[in-house]
Amino acid sequence: MPEPHAKAGEVVVDMKAVGLCHTDVGFLTDPGWMTGHTVPFTLGHEDAGVISEVGEGVEGFKVGDRVAICPTTSAGTPGGSFDGGYGEKVEIGAQGWCRFPIRSISSRARRPQTRA
Ligand SMILES: [Zn+2]
Repeated sequence: MPEPHAKAGEVVVDMKAVGLCHTDVGFLTDPGWMTGHTVPFTLGHEDAGVISEVGEGVEGFKVGDRVAICPTTSAGTPGGSFDGGYGEKVEIGAQGWCRFPIRSISSRARRPQTRA
């Protein structure tokens, strides 16, 4: 996959935590979930990370800000409509992120969690 870069109105977020959702499992196990999607793309739509690049015109956010990415944006779904959080970086438009209220994101948060 090409390295993402922030276009006007976008940021690039370095991924720090990504959840595994039933939707991801559906993509992996049922070809019916792929209808309407252009492959290949990187899964992962329950994403949080740190802004590493800010595009022209983005106000109120800077490199280093911790953000969560909305799984359903007006531009589509990360990890469905465009490359998602199982990659190292996500390029996302202004409609798709919000400030993350927790001070630190542990590297442990990247491991899959179960309720066993
Ligand atoms: Zn989900």
